[in-house]
Amino acid sequence: MVHAKLLRRMRPAEAFANLLYPPACLLCRATLPPVPPQGITHPLCRKCLEAMPRCGPPVCQQCGVGLPGAFDAIARCAVCRNNPRVFEMARAPWQYQGPVQDAVRQFKYHRRWRIGRWLAEGMAITAQRSFPLDEVTAVLPVPLHWLARRLRGRHPSADLASAVARSLEKPYVPQALRRSRWTRTQTRLGWRQRFQNVHQAFIAQGPLVRHRSLLLVDDVLTSGATAEACALALKAAGARRVFVLTAARTPLHR
Ligand SMILES: [Zn+2]
Ligand SMILES: [Zn+2]
Repeated sequence: MVHAKLLRRMRPAEAFANLLYPPACLLCRATLPPVPPQGITHPLCRKCLEAMPRCGPPVCQQCGVGLPGAFDAIARCAVCRNNPRVFEMARAPWQYQGPVQDAVRQFKYHRRWRIGRWLAEGMAITAQRSFPLDEVTAVLPVPLHWLARRLRGRHPSADLASAVARSLEKPYVPQALRRSRWTRTQTRLGWRQRFQNVHQAFIAQGPLVRHRSLLLVDDVLTSGATAEACALALKAAGARRVFVLTAARTPLHR
């Protein structure tokens, strides 16, 4: 079972440290209940876990957005119906709301790597449940421009992607895709502008992606414009299918 493999067991030194300093929830700092020496560590308290909204079902078969009230298991949202996506399927364990938003921001902007590792564990479980992983032969992140990586000194999507690749025991191939030009941050852009902003902003390495099915990893999926532009570049270079995995999904198209 993936759970057992992904969740770490405590080492004796760690168990001793936990006696002296009881572990606290990574988000709200509440003291966590003591874990038996052979038990499984869980870095969030029950209250935070229960407040984290999961993604569906029912969700759009293609982009994974929640479709409250949908009965059809293969329903697609209006956006995907009107403009079929280039990627095959996008999925995320959580909705980008409440403590999930907090967790992603803490990881992304405050370098809280333990939260990132925990997010990656949830993502790996979602990937196992949702994607035909037998055919996936490489995991890669949505790339950052080299200058942005240099300026920020970190690349959160790459951290998530490499952790997911390790959990799923798949090759991690970040060099398969790169940004060909600088793009504005998507945060303040409208729906249509987001697609224009990232249009033709990526280049894939043919020999690394040709005839392969790939797992593309990012932190949050909002409009899907970035994932779409990546998938377009990967397919133009000969990729067979592209599955998109993020930690969180914005609940409604904005
Ligand atoms: Zn908590
Ligand atoms: Zn959709």
